[in-house]
Amino acid sequence: MLPFSRVTIVGLGLIGSSIARGVKQHMPSVRVTGHDADPGVRETAVRIGLCDDVADTPGAAVIDADLVILCVPVGAMGDAAAAIGADLPADAILSDVGSCKESVIEAVGAALPRAVFVPAHPVAGTENSGPEAGFASLFRKRWCIVTPPEGTDPLAIERVSEFWRRLGAEVELMAPAHHDRVLAITSHLPHLIAYTIVGTASDLEEVTRSEVIKYSAGGFRDFTRIAASDPTMWRDVFLANREGVLEMLQRFSEDLSALQRAIRWGKGDELFDLFTRTRAVRRSIIEQGQDDAAPDFGRSHD
Ligand code: NAP
Repeated sequence: MLPFSRVTIVGLGLIGSSIARGVKQHMPSVRVTGHDADPGVRETAVRIGLCDDVADTPGAAVIDADLVILCVPVGAMGDAAAAIGADLPADAILSDVGSCKESVIEAVGAALPRAVFVPAHPVAGTENSGPEAGFASLFRKRWCIVTPPEGTDPLAIERVSEFWRRLGAEVELMAPAHHDRVLAITSHLPHLIAYTIVGTASDLEEVTRSEVIKYSAGGFRDFTRIAASDPTMWRDVFLANREGVLEMLQRFSEDLSALQRAIRWGKGDELFDLFTRTRAVRRSIIEQGQDDAAPDFGRSHD
């Protein structure tokens, strides 16, 4: 049996529109209603037939839903929750897809203290945003981390987990605080590093911007994909997971200093050992099906 029959998606960007497409593909009998604060996004959603219905107000979008998923930037979760408060059916389950969990649980809990809230984070995405960037297979074979606060109804947790399994994801339960530490190192810090490298390179004066672009195949361009990610989303992530990011940044800075010392003193063995370990990490990611085995990210060399 399907876990839900009337799903409302608030925020029709990359993630919201991918969920809408995934529901159409994998649960075609489920009615999907969408809402976005941006009238231009609502217009696009109607034009491309993203949902069965696109509502102009948050209240109208949720009025008969049995699952409501907030797919807005983490800094907007509290406002988005407050805006549906008066119309959210008492028996509906509320969920979200935010990249940080503790701050979202706090903001949604403050706005809607009586709602049954099952937070979730699909660990899948691209550097693109907006309703036309989404696709149904985005979550296939990717992890969706469900982070219910203590005391959440187990049936509600199972229904949300089953919803994600039907979209093709593998589900793992995790405590919200642990989620934020894990994602600080696996996602948030890599984005911060990519933003830094790309920013530093574009600020260099003795190497021209055109040279940075011309010779980017040396490695730089792989950072630019991550550094092209949505500015609003990532500003909110760093502010929301401040503690986790600062802790991992401290560890990273210490390791970077050690590497700097090894280079200065010509300690080739230290460099070689580290690079051997990091190569093994890449191989594990491929073995576990979290990336393609094709070299150079599958780029064509014809
Ligand atoms: P996105 O493509 O920028 O879409 C977000 C949409 O929400 C935008 O159309 C935005 O409109 C709208 N919005 C903002 N505030 C709103 C509000 N109060 N009510 C209704 N709509 C509102 O972003 P996304 O990449 O889908 O990210 C959405 C969420 O998913 C974020 O919490 C993010 O942390 C999480 N997430 C993202 C990824 C990823 O790789 N992108 C992966 C996993 C999870 P405006 O543009 O007009 O503000």
